[in-house]
Amino acid sequence: MAKIQLLDQKTIDNIAAGEVIERPASVVKELVENAIDASASAVTVEIKDGGMTLIRVTDNGCGIPKDQVKTAFLRHATSKIQSVEDLMTVSSLGFRGEALSSISAVAQVELVTKTAEGFSGVSYKIYGGQEEDFCDIGAPDGTTFLVKNLFYNTPARRKFLKSPAAEAGYVEQIMVHMALSHPEISFKFISSNKNKMYTAGNGKVKDIIYHIYGREIARALIPVEAETENVSLRGFVGKPHVSRGNRNYESYFINGRYIKSALIYRAIEEAYKTFTMTHKYPFVCLELSIRPELLDVNVHPTKMEIRFENGNEIFDLLVESIRKALLQQDLIPEVQVSK
Ligand code: ADP
Ligand code: MG
Repeated sequence: MAKIQLLDQKTIDNIAAGEVIERPASVVKELVENAIDASASAVTVEIKDGGMTLIRVTDNGCGIPKDQVKTAFLRHATSKIQSVEDLMTVSSLGFRGEALSSISAVAQVELVTKTAEGFSGVSYKIYGGQEEDFCDIGAPDGTTFLVKNLFYNTPARRKFLKSPAAEAGYVEQIMVHMALSHPEISFKFISSNKNKMYTAGNGKVKDIIYHIYGREIARALIPVEAETENVSLRGFVGKPHVSRGNRNYESYFINGRYIKSALIYRAIEEAYKTFTMTHKYPFVCLELSIRPELLDVNVHPTKMEIRFENGNEIFDLLVESIRKALLQQDLIPEVQVSK
């Protein structure tokens, strides 16, 4: 065996980056989350070649002050929490301070940012963790990240990417979840010069569902609403006849965060038990607001998992309110009868 020694910083950063950034869609997720945390009201995402050669995320949020730009790219650098205690009540999507350092370790990143107070904008280029350029530049308020040639310096990672079309599909999924979970923000998504998605940011989830999933689903929506002391639930579930053979139509958000949860999947299944056949999954788009003290969002680097302190309460609330909504409906699909 070789001698035990500490890895150098570059290698440490590269290994860490692998946990957060798996593919272009992970870059888009992290950058859009940052835009949302920066209180943007409009976010544009553009990709080329499925995001492998180019990802551009532009927001009109608060921007990064010039003297903090370089710090933002350091590992564990964040403006969102200060202590372990803050983790208990964190309401921002980010808090681990890992995205920018991870992305810049494995791609060529160019940032242009300006705060409302800043005299001018700042341009910062960082390639594979190495600073290339830092200067003033004219820019509108807000932030643009350009991420070029993802994994250019880690060929082993690049090998695991799928075709550009498949990668673009993953990015689109992220955009759909972002749009559904933040109807108050206007999102635009462009893939290889084609407009793929636009949402108005008018706060109406139903409009977004119509735009993304089409008329049949939009016409089969049943509103769900419930509230307890700790949890408030709202959104839409689909009438059983628009169920499908996989879970791609099930999205739910906790405090504005798209997550996956076995508990919630089970609750949905339980609620629909007598309404759908087995192996059929309903359309679901639900937003849960839960007191942050009852959640642990710091389970995994990608923040896609959550632990609930009041799991039973959430399970029961979901089952009861979805069933109630289904039972109130006339569930016979509308059939056009021609005479
Ligand atoms: P985290 O989101 O966990 O704090 P990141 O590495 O994603 O960590 O970002 C580091 C910091 O950079 C953020 O805490 C925030 O202060 C700043 N930042 C990143 N993106 C933006 C943005 N689009 N607008 C304003 N500030 C940003
Ligand atoms: Mg972040």
